[in-house]
Amino acid sequence: MSNGIEDLIQSWDGRGVVCRFDRESSSWIFICMHDDTLGAFTGGTRLRSYPSPAAALEDGMRLAAGMTRKWAALGMEYGGGKAVLAVPEALAAAAREGLLRRYGDLVQSLGGRFRTGEDMGTTPDDMRLLAEHTRFVHGFDRETGEKVDPSPYTARGVWSGIRAACAQVFGSDDLAGRTVLVEGLGNVGWRLAELLRASGAGLLASDIDAARSQRAVTELGATAVEAARVAETACDVYAPCAVGATLNRETIPRLACRIVAGSANNQLAEPEDADRLLERGIVYVPDYVVNGGGAMSFGLMSRGERDAEAIFRQVETIGDTVAELLREAAERGESPVAAADRRVERALAAARPGAA
Ligand code: NAD
Repeated sequence: MSNGIEDLIQSWDGRGVVCRFDRESSSWIFICMHDDTLGAFTGGTRLRSYPSPAAALEDGMRLAAGMTRKWAALGMEYGGGKAVLAVPEALAAAAREGLLRRYGDLVQSLGGRFRTGEDMGTTPDDMRLLAEHTRFVHGFDRETGEKVDPSPYTARGVWSGIRAACAQVFGSDDLAGRTVLVEGLGNVGWRLAELLRASGAGLLASDIDAARSQRAVTELGATAVEAARVAETACDVYAPCAVGATLNRETIPRLACRIVAGSANNQLAEPEDADRLLERGIVYVPDYVVNGGGAMSFGLMSRGERDAEAIFRQVETIGDTVAELLREAAERGESPVAAADRRVERALAAARPGAA
């Protein structure tokens, strides 16, 4: 093991890492188990190439810690975990399959302490393959074998978060007449745009793929916005549903919205951006809370919930969580990110052995 890996493991605040070198595929497997105070370590399996095994481990550790925060903020009884399969650049299909099968055996050997599903670089077919080796994998319907797409749940959670933020800022959660700019009309953004349209909101739509924004114009009555002009476009709500880091020291001064709430991960380029938004009087709904609907659906399905409507109902509680966070942040004059982080600490502290 390189010193890089040893140092990372020694200095991590997580519970532990299962490391394995898969000789047959020349790949590293890292199962990062961050915190199981609230429940079993639960998070997706990412498969990609990294510049070094240490870089892969670091990514897995960061993502696992993010899952601890996400589950705790959502009030779900799961712990933070993530697996990373660091593969060589050109991995042949047969070698990839062998790796996944052996990884499935490894997950099974943990006896349910770690539960996983799809993530970047893995597919529903991969999950089906893993399921031949372990019970502790989710992301498809075990009876029909069909893929379970988290995007509709993610979109519903964002929609409920937007309504809660509008209630805080405008005094009503009614979206009729509000203008929402959806950036990124992919799996989540398109469904969000449909929900917003059905709620009577005015839609502004932007995608680097011009065909997608054109489709939103034709099918949803949206007004297209050029990708480069999103920041300065006037709207009530800006919903980033494309890429991360769109909120940064360069864009924040130009924003012409009252609320930011969208599905994209890591929307803030750096932590200080939360206060930059606060100073501009823009209400930022923390991404890891408002985009948790897909994770929630995954968690509920992993417990055997099969009723989509029941899952949607649970996902809509994200709106209640957002309302509480925004109220607390407003009372204290702080960023909603600070309120969300404190909520995580409270949930973990209350569940630790010895807590009153
Ligand atoms: P997707 O790939 O289906 O869609 C992304 C869309 O954004 C595409 O239409 C793409 O053309 C567009 N896009 C890319 N760069 C852009 C840019 N600079 N400006 C405007 N448009 C741009 O992805 P998705 O599954 O809809 O996820 C969207 C975001 O939400 C991602 O950041 C993802 O990590 C996050 N997220 C998704 C889920 C989920 O359930 N799918 C859950 C949590 C978080």
